[in-house]
Amino acid sequence: MRTHYSLLAAIAAAALLYTPSCAKMNNTSDSPANPYYSRTDTTKLDLPDSVWRTVLSPDVYAVAREKNTERAFTGKYWDFTGKGTYYCAACGNALFRSDAKFASTCGWPSFFETLRDNSVLYVSDNSYNMNRTEVVCGRCGGHLGHIFDDGPEPTGKRFCMNSIVLDFVPDK
Ligand code: FE
Repeated sequence: MRTHYSLLAAIAAAALLYTPSCAKMNNTSDSPANPYYSRTDTTKLDLPDSVWRTVLSPDVYAVAREKNTERAFTGKYWDFTGKGTYYCAACGNALFRSDAKFASTCGWPSFFETLRDNSVLYVSDNSYNMNRTEVVCGRCGGHLGHIFDDGPEPTGKRFCMNSIVLDFVPDK
């Protein structure tokens, strides 16, 4: 009987030891500083800015949550031509493939289509006395940029994005 108890105790101890590493393996977050960032979880996020402020860098927060625009020709991806996928820097949502990126003279990374139909959402934006359509992340609602009708075929669209809210992952 005593042997059984020690066996059970050993199994319980092993289970306790195993649990933390198992939990770590199941954590889909790709950024330890931002627990909401995941390139695999597509669950919508509805978090207040007070939470985003604690998990995003000030530069990303200023664009994603305060709708700032980075200066033209200053972002890291405006003339970048690497092959891979662009994800939302705030939440990890897959946004664009490099195949849909085109050389634009506007000074911001430009794409003619999103990776999935629901990668982004569109919001009417009448700020600064302009009638524009804002593009926000379909998962976290973060501001990404604007869309215009002067893009190349096949869509004729130009998704004019801020580099700082894009995370590029090269193809393997
Ligand atoms: Fe996002």
